[in-house]
Amino acid sequence: MDCRLSLETKHWLAVSGAQCPAPDTRDLTPETRHLYNGRSGSFRDLRGIMPTATEVRAKYEAVIGLEVHVQLLTKSKIFCSCSTRFGDPPNSNVCPVCLGLPGALPVLNREAVTMAIKAATALNCAINSRSRFARKNYFYPDLPKGYQISQYDEPLSQDGWIEIEVNGVRKRVGITRVHLEEDAGKSLHEGFPDSECNSYIDLNRSGVPLVEIVSEPDLRTPEEAYDYLTRLKSLLLYLEVSNCNMEEGSLRCDANVSVRAVGALAFGTKTEVKNLNSFRFLQKALQYEIERQIEILEGGGTIHQETRLWDSREQRTYGMRSKEFAHDYRYFPEPDLLPLVITEEWKEEVRRTLPELPQSREGRFLGQYGLPKQDATLLVMSRTMADYFEEVASLSGEPKLSANWILNDLIFLLQENKKGFVEYPVPAKNLAELIGLITKGTISGKIAKDLLGEMVRTERSASEVIAEKGLEQINDPGKIADLARQIIAANPKQAEQYRKGRTATMGWFVGQVMKATRGQANPQLVQEVLKRELS
Ligand SMILES: [Zn+2]
Repeated sequence: MDCRLSLETKHWLAVSGAQCPAPDTRDLTPETRHLYNGRSGSFRDLRGIMPTATEVRAKYEAVIGLEVHVQLLTKSKIFCSCSTRFGDPPNSNVCPVCLGLPGALPVLNREAVTMAIKAATALNCAINSRSRFARKNYFYPDLPKGYQISQYDEPLSQDGWIEIEVNGVRKRVGITRVHLEEDAGKSLHEGFPDSECNSYIDLNRSGVPLVEIVSEPDLRTPEEAYDYLTRLKSLLLYLEVSNCNMEEGSLRCDANVSVRAVGALAFGTKTEVKNLNSFRFLQKALQYEIERQIEILEGGGTIHQETRLWDSREQRTYGMRSKEFAHDYRYFPEPDLLPLVITEEWKEEVRRTLPELPQSREGRFLGQYGLPKQDATLLVMSRTMADYFEEVASLSGEPKLSANWILNDLIFLLQENKKGFVEYPVPAKNLAELIGLITKGTISGKIAKDLLGEMVRTERSASEVIAEKGLEQINDPGKIADLARQIIAANPKQAEQYRKGRTATMGWFVGQVMKATRGQANPQLVQEVLKRELS
């Protein structure tokens, strides 16, 4: 394969294959080699695997561990001062260090280390006072140095845990290690007119700081894996060390999966599933991979240790390459960087900046505000939402109502109007004002819902919308009396019933007046006026 690197006019680096040569089929696993269609350069369409029968499935247990890569929110890269900004023109945030030019030397970004310590501390890991960077050697066009600076036998931290909860059952999942490394560039194989022949490379991402968070193989179901990733993401967002945006690739997840007979102690052979760039894909890919492995074992076959790719279009995993082992990477200590020394003072300094974390906040919401468990769990998932809730609750003095209005109405209205959580279009004081109007009986719940919709759309306060839309309450006794008389005159039968002592008819009359005023009449006043007019 002709791998000339050339600089294209639009700043893209193109790796071209002169005549679109087919991939080396030696790279394909035995399982996929016969499926490869050499002429069109694609894989043949494959039949999906049939769902495994429940009784067969029940004989097996899955063992899952996740490796999560998270981009840290530093302004500059880990070993140079280039910007980490996402979406800049391709190959514009690069320098000799992140381009891997000979003689360029890395300088460690202190902020990246601080953020990694923060994540490791929140994950209950032991932080090593001395750790070391190592070179992980492999060739890939988006890795210009020919090696990635990572950590190997002396990582930043290890032996932590995170608590998950599925169907009301709590469980601790071990964190094997949290270490620092640099990201590689990005290869783009699709979306260009000549994508058939060329791949493009953007090195803006080369050298962006990452933490790799490796879990113990403690997860047993796709649901547990989903919950683990959800809680991990929530935690990292609380810590403000990453934006965890899966679409932009700032949170990436690979899964190690194996199955074994229920009750067996030894692990089965695992496969690594890559390309899980959404929570939904993670769950689907795990379900698929577990069933695939069970089917092979049930058929008397063996599982090969390999790396597999999730194809979201075909809803299946493909064998990509036989899994490399650590020794394939020829790790050795990075000679251009000193060992990383983290003092007790530094650890303490980071510990002091830790915010209240989701789990303890959930407990506090239950006790302090008397919220139902489900509401508390949902609210603390996002720090922004939890902060917002606390502000509305304190301004309105109505924590339960605040939680209800946020979770039942506001989040759906925001979605409907394609507005995000972060740039809240309804300030806390405005929602508190609306809740106050409801509790004082100034507006009905129905009107409040309409009002909130208008507040989200127009980003104005309840009182502003009320004034503009003429939704103010009708407090004029004369006006209400006129209306009451008309309604009584039109319904002599009901009026007669009331006078004969069927006081329940009062509710019906109040309803009629409220309907005629589109809910704007002051209900208390309506009652008083009706009583007078009917007697
Ligand atoms: Zn650079």
